[in-house]
Amino acid sequence: MLIPIHEEMTREALGPHFSAGALEIIIAANRKQDALSGQIGHDEFHFDNNAIEKGLRYINEQRGFVLASLLSPGVLSAWIAFGRLTHTAQDFYAHTNYVSLWLDQFNGTPPTPVEIDPVQKSLIQSPSLHSGKIYFPLDVLYFIPFMRNLALKFLPEDSHGKMNLDSPKQGPYFEYARAAALKRTQYEFELLKKILTPEMFAKFTDL
Ligand SMILES: [Zn+2]
Repeated sequence: MLIPIHEEMTREALGPHFSAGALEIIIAANRKQDALSGQIGHDEFHFDNNAIEKGLRYINEQRGFVLASLLSPGVLSAWIAFGRLTHTAQDFYAHTNYVSLWLDQFNGTPPTPVEIDPVQKSLIQSPSLHSGKIYFPLDVLYFIPFMRNLALKFLPEDSHGKMNLDSPKQGPYFEYARAAALKRTQYEFELLKKILTPEMFAKFTDL
């Protein structure tokens, strides 16, 4: 997703649960995943190139880092790990066909975006779940505004450019991706609330 959208969703989902300082560190870590160093050779950060399993594993690893960090002194690395986790969790809905698989289950009038279930197991485990492949150089040209339409003419259906739901410009599915990503961010927070001890949770939220 576009960086401002990651930031806006993270603020909306986590703002009420963290101190202002903690929230800024989480957001900075989330944004950093989209820096050039996080784009090259890191499909798992963004669920690119069909890195479904790798992306899911990355989320679990970062959750593990949050826990491990909270067991040692200091809390900064727990916030940073959680920021990285939220980025990947949010990109899942923008870069895979999860939204379209979810909508395929309904006939007639589709449910509204806020009704989307972000963690439907049968879809996460579905063999039909896939993410956009990056085709060079067309998927790079896609990011140059005046080249975008030309790139789209030649990009295959399973390309990052054709599949991505990064911004409202991508059409009506974007609102489903955003709603799912927001809910998933809240879900990840609630999950940590469940698994952390009250002392660890208090340290984590820093309120
Ligand atoms: Zn990303």
